[in-house]
Amino acid sequence: PEWTFAMIKPDAVRKGKAQEIKQLIEIHGFHIIADQKIQLTRTRAQEFYAEHHGKAFFEHLVDFMTSGPVFALVLSKHDAITGWRKLMGPTNSISARETAPKSLRAMYGTDGTKNACHGSDSPTSAGREVKFFFPALVIE
Ligand code: ATP
Ligand code: MG
Repeated sequence: PEWTFAMIKPDAVRKGKAQEIKQLIEIHGFHIIADQKIQLTRTRAQEFYAEHHGKAFFEHLVDFMTSGPVFALVLSKHDAITGWRKLMGPTNSISARETAPKSLRAMYGTDGTKNACHGSDSPTSAGREVKFFFPALVIE
């Protein structure tokens, strides 16, 4: 199987939806092979989202991602990277409610920034992001 990095973002955690989202993750055939509840500092959030540095929404994104704890997860499944992004749905939770109403972002997210979850967009990102949150993890 393939693995990917997933995050349950502060809006969904604040709404008390983290356990429900983890149950849906497992119902959809993913195994949760690492799970950590953590609070990001500004420095760590800026580093995690370095590719978006300089974009108009960057500071707002960092404010949001440091507004409360997140769950950092490693998921495994055949085609985990694309499968998890499909289950999350479109980036913007408001438009997701129109185009993909059963997606996690539609069901649990708030708007274009507060969108309930994150997923790596490629094997390279997955490797970087797993190492960022779980530097000592050995995946066999
Ligand atoms: P993620 O990387 O969180 O899985 P994504 O790959 O769908 O989401 P990116 O383009 O990588 O989206 O953007 C990272 C995050 O930045 C988004 O999940 C969202 O929280 C925020 N974001 C992206 N685009 C915008 C925007 N136009 N306005 C406000 N916030 C945005
Ligand atoms: Mg992304």
